[in-house]
Amino acid sequence: MKSKRFNLANISKSLGLKKTYFASHVFDSRIDAGFDQDKSYKKVWQHFKGWEIETEKPVFDPEVFTMMDFRLKWKDSTSFTYVLPNKPTRALIEFTFFAPFFIPAGDYDKYLQRYIDQFLKVGKYTIKNVEQGIIPMSDYPFHQHHQKNITKIGTGGGWVRPSSGYSFRNSSRYVKQLIENIKSGRSAHQGITRNRFRTYDTIFLICSRIIMKWVNHYLLRCIAKTPFSKFLSFLMKRPPFLKMPGLFPLLKNGHF
Ligand SMILES: Cc1cc2nc3c(=O)[nH]c(=O)nc-3n(C[C@H](O)[C@H](O)[C@H](O)COP(=O)(O)OP(=O)(O)OC[C@H]3O[C@@H](n4cnc5c(N)ncnc54)[C@H](O)[C@@H]3O)c2cc1C
Repeated sequence: MKSKRFNLANISKSLGLKKTYFASHVFDSRIDAGFDQDKSYKKVWQHFKGWEIETEKPVFDPEVFTMMDFRLKWKDSTSFTYVLPNKPTRALIEFTFFAPFFIPAGDYDKYLQRYIDQFLKVGKYTIKNVEQGIIPMSDYPFHQHHQKNITKIGTGGGWVRPSSGYSFRNSSRYVKQLIENIKSGRSAHQGITRNRFRTYDTIFLICSRIIMKWVNHYLLRCIAKTPFSKFLSFLMKRPPFLKMPGLFPLLKNGHF
């Protein structure tokens, strides 16, 4: 579908596959082509595959989930496994990457299988559902593609948190704000994604708690750049404050 502003009468025109639509305002969740073309921003992909498995024996505790298990890792990458049980015999096992590269499709399955065999050891199981996704985590200024009558939303609007790849919380907040803006006659996207702060979002909140106020834009750009695993393991371990200076040389040498 293509969208463009219809010069006369301030109406947006969207060309669908079969039909042309006219509206006074279009909400567009497609990622702008500029995102692929622009190499000046950092891009990390959260890509993953998950199996929802059912075991013969009750082996899971539905009250306990595993957020990021780093025991099984794809070499030189930030990769980890989630285990999200919803019944004693059922859980979603997800092998996830935060990486600037992709892997052969079949390799997710190998790692899921390996994780279940080596770490979960749940005995016999069957795969009930499969889910897979790729989420861009980037400091790209998605907001620059808003137009007067075309508001970018979702991933294409920069609603995904660059540090975590999550968007649901932002989506519910931003939709509310969007509706309030429209009701009040303001520009629909006003105050929604202020790019200057968007990048800082989760990373900054987490970092500022543990590595104080010197966390700056340079660090944030570096985080998205290369071995994110180093930074994440740093975050996970939460070293004491006195050990913090150890991070400075890494920053200086561009290791992050
Ligand atoms: C398996 C999986 C699990 C996830 N789990 C979580 C989670 O737990 N928490 C979280 O915060 N995020 C999660 N995410 C990420 C979250 O789903 C996405 O970040 C979010 O849905 C992005 O919203 P969006 O509006 O950009 O895209 P979508 O939700 O994909 O919506 C885009 C819509 O536009 C339609 N569309 C696309 N192109 C066109 C076109 N040319 N013409 C017409 N229609 C079109 C699509 O069909 C789709 O319905 C998960 C993603 C996946 C795949």
